[in-house]
Amino acid sequence: MNLSYWEEKHYFEDNDLVVIGAGIVGLSTAIAAKTLRPDLKVLVLERSIVPSGASTKNAGFACFGSVTELISDSVNMKYEDQIALLKMRWDGLKLLQSNVTPEDMSYRSRGGVEVLELDDVSQITALDNINKYNEMVSDAIGLKDCFSIVDQHLSDSFHSKAIYNQYEGELNPMHMMSSLQRKASKLGINILYGVDVQSVYSGVVNLVTKEIESPKIAVCTNGLSRALLPQLALQAVRNQVFVTELLANNPLQSCYHFDQGYVYFREIDNRILIGGARNLYSEQENTDQFGQTDNLKAYLKSFVEERITKRTIQFEYEWSGILGVGETKEPIIEEVAKGLYVGVRLGGMGVAIGSGVGHSLAEMLLS
Ligand SMILES: Cc1cc2nc3c(=O)[nH]c(=O)nc-3n(C[C@H](O)[C@H](O)[C@H](O)COP(=O)(O)OP(=O)(O)OC[C@H]3O[C@@H](n4cnc5c(N)ncnc54)[C@H](O)[C@@H]3O)c2cc1C
Repeated sequence: MNLSYWEEKHYFEDNDLVVIGAGIVGLSTAIAAKTLRPDLKVLVLERSIVPSGASTKNAGFACFGSVTELISDSVNMKYEDQIALLKMRWDGLKLLQSNVTPEDMSYRSRGGVEVLELDDVSQITALDNINKYNEMVSDAIGLKDCFSIVDQHLSDSFHSKAIYNQYEGELNPMHMMSSLQRKASKLGINILYGVDVQSVYSGVVNLVTKEIESPKIAVCTNGLSRALLPQLALQAVRNQVFVTELLANNPLQSCYHFDQGYVYFREIDNRILIGGARNLYSEQENTDQFGQTDNLKAYLKSFVEERITKRTIQFEYEWSGILGVGETKEPIIEEVAKGLYVGVRLGGMGVAIGSGVGHSLAEMLLS
């Protein structure tokens, strides 16, 4: 790195906090820390020229749980833990809205629809359970009648009834992230893109050609974290996303979930965005490598053609992102060594919990 005296001083000297990763968690951590302590000098380091993990690659669902997911979770989680998770997601969405206005992230509150497999008892049972899960949502976040049963007209291959969640929304992830970037810059936080952190220890961040010292360091690299901290209980998982050509008659009105949210699709700009299905190809998708695969792409293409458009379509955009999952759905927010903190393992709903994880991490490292 060929740095001038002024660059060296401005970016690398006397930082109170260095955050690694400029996704939703990294920026939310930096923003919360600087808001709580405006006197702090905060630096965010991001390896790519744009954030490269998940925060600008995701599908933009502002959601907090479908009924089939809640049923599945109830097998492994206690009622109180499910309530806490729902609350974390809902509170996180509210916190996000305190950082970014709905207009600035192109938020649309169109609700969400969960479609159910026609002959799959484990999914159809959701219809008999909506009162139970309405009570759970009400216990968690005080919202009444969250789920209701509606007619489903997309395809005969789904059950004729679907579940509508009136409180779900959708947003543009890039708009969300660029608003967070603007907010961070306005607060005086330095953000450097194209800086790949090689290793991190208490008090020290190593770049390719230099070492940065800071009393507090926050690692916010989610699914890509094990390269820096191999001991973390975290599995990297890829999610592939596809967007169709422009469609004259788009049958989608809101955002849709299928199979516990493993498949998700929605209308964007007269196209259909569809992604997920990682559970069907889990061995292949348990990776921190970006990329598309023919088998998963073919599955999602025929899903659109057979169940949504009823005609052949072409995908015009495709990409992938990497998320971090674990044995439980709770994120890891902790101090792993003196002054070295992590805020990772966001699972599939990081848009919902990312702001809250960042805020909790900032409070922890400043306490
Ligand atoms: C395809 C896809 C669709 C999704 N859809 C949704 C959705 O609709 N709704 C929802 O709520 N959630 C969704 N998620 C999940 C959500 O996007 C993530 O949970 C969330 O963005 C994670 O944010 P993060 O800041 O923790 O991590 P990331 O956004 O992954 O940010 C981590 C950053 O760290 C950087 N980094 C990594 N290693 C280094 C290093 N060594 N040095 C410097 N920088 C480094 C990366 O480049 C990256 O920018 C989706 C995820 C994916 C992948």
